[in-house]
Amino acid sequence: MGRIYNFSAGPAVLPEEVLKEAADEMLDYRGSGMSVMEMSHRSKVYDGIIKEAEADLRELMNIPDNYKVLFLQGGASQQFAMIPMNLMKNKKAGYIVTGQWAKKAYQEAKLYGEAIELASSADKTFSYIPDCSDLDIPEDCDYVYICENNTIYGTKFKNLPDTKGHTLVADVSSCFLSEPVDASKYGVIYGGVQKNIGPAGVVIVIIREDLITEDTLPGTPTMLKYKIHSDNDSLYNTPPAYGIYICGKVFKWIKKMGGLTAMKEHNEKKAKILYDFLDESKLFKGTVEKADRSLMNVPFVTGSEELDAKFVAEAKKAGFENLKGHRSVGGMRASIYNAMPVEGVEKLVEFMRKFEKENAE
Ligand SMILES: *Cc1c(COP(=O)(O)O)cnc(C)c1O
Repeated sequence: MGRIYNFSAGPAVLPEEVLKEAADEMLDYRGSGMSVMEMSHRSKVYDGIIKEAEADLRELMNIPDNYKVLFLQGGASQQFAMIPMNLMKNKKAGYIVTGQWAKKAYQEAKLYGEAIELASSADKTFSYIPDCSDLDIPEDCDYVYICENNTIYGTKFKNLPDTKGHTLVADVSSCFLSEPVDASKYGVIYGGVQKNIGPAGVVIVIIREDLITEDTLPGTPTMLKYKIHSDNDSLYNTPPAYGIYICGKVFKWIKKMGGLTAMKEHNEKKAKILYDFLDESKLFKGTVEKADRSLMNVPFVTGSEELDAKFVAEAKKAGFENLKGHRSVGGMRASIYNAMPVEGVEKLVEFMRKFEKENAE
């Protein structure tokens, strides 16, 4: 069996080159006589791996020196609590609710203080990004929170909200390293790596140093304090060592591909192929506002649940896996992350054309 085209939203496709390299190094990492999985996280060899991963990420994203890069665990979902526990000094924060992940973060924040819904697109099943150019933000808000790319609904903030001087916190799980970013516009950028960077089990948090303080909410567990992880360079306890090693390889792969500018071009090219087809198709159509379309997650429907199911089943047989939409929304979704080759999207569109012809009334 060869490899299929994997359109999963996460865990998701990784560059084949990276997987092969990891396979080559599985039994003996560069003469160490052991696998990275078997190595002490305090060893010199591993220190080299984690330091190099951080340095490459800093270079790729052009992260300013006054930001810390943390490799943590607990999934993106754990950050839903960790953010308020560490940043809610006034016990007040604003949330822009653009989908299920943003909503979960908003609801979690309510456990710790006053979470205010500053804007929402729930009225139209999260099919657009609300206008965030003039939000009504209370003066004493500790931060403004967004989910920058909405994995389930397929929308993306093309402009960051005007936070009126408040700290911006962004969940970028499903658009991490997909295009250049200006890190200095954010207080915190974080994401689970299993969408676009590596294996599940690692969360990367990029946080401005002044936000890392001893002053956390009472009862905050030691493991959920940014300061502890920052003071210990992500080695307070055993980090997800093998996962970080794979992330490091993906950073190298992105650098070799030309960095984030090249990634953006590559991603725009793929997304255009699929969206152009959806716009001309008589059977398939996209489900979100064109201006807010994600480059990473592309949801679409036929308008008939039966045909949707038939499409997903036939696509699977033809080697296109994981095209079923999220269980909460139905339809289809093609996640076309960095590691999805252009050819994968071209072949998918070819298959969709054929399906459309065969199923025309
Ligand atoms: C997948 C996802 C999450 C949840 O990630 P876990 O690592 O499973 O907790 C959160 N936010 C976004 C945007 C996601 O895509």
